[in-house]
Amino acid sequence: MRSFTTFNIQYAHRFYNFKGEAQYLHGHTGILTIEVEDTINHGVNMVFPCNEIKKIAWSVIQNFDHALILREDDPLLPAVLAVYEKQGIRHGAPTNTMKGEAFSIDLVTAHPDCRLVVTKETMTVEGMIKMVYHLLKDKLNIAKITFHSGDNAATQEYTPIGSHDRCPLCGVAMGKNGICPKCGYHK
Ligand SMILES: [Zn+2]
Ligand SMILES: [Zn+2]
Repeated sequence: MRSFTTFNIQYAHRFYNFKGEAQYLHGHTGILTIEVEDTINHGVNMVFPCNEIKKIAWSVIQNFDHALILREDDPLLPAVLAVYEKQGIRHGAPTNTMKGEAFSIDLVTAHPDCRLVVTKETMTVEGMIKMVYHLLKDKLNIAKITFHSGDNAATQEYTPIGSHDRCPLCGVAMGKNGICPKCGYHK
């Protein structure tokens, strides 16, 4: 069975060198849905607690929220960074507190201190799905990711890898030491 959760993400981007209106900087509310598949954990009668999916995914996905997302070769990138530097907000601001954990993989690097995400490929809905999968595939048993942004939407199914050992009392993934990191249960 599947448990799934949905996120709202506000972001600005553009399709650098795209021959259409999307080559100009603009913004969206994106809706991201992540579906997680596993057996039903009989202790709690759940696949995985949705608030736990939310917590794990949001620590990464938050980087895309209220962020500017630019491709690595976009000349706007050094221009924006120069302005942020001059303004003194390049390396953070006291009010920039709702930040995700910084990450860097082949497809994407997040700079939470200045709410900037630098991508290898154009951030289309398809591109977003690829990035989210690679950022979260080792943390969640992902079966499907769907992303809507304005009139654009895309979806991709994945084959979940194995089954996670989950706590029968609270449903979260058991630690490698055989102890539940949330409630302390052990077999
Ligand atoms: Zn767009
Ligand atoms: Zn537990």
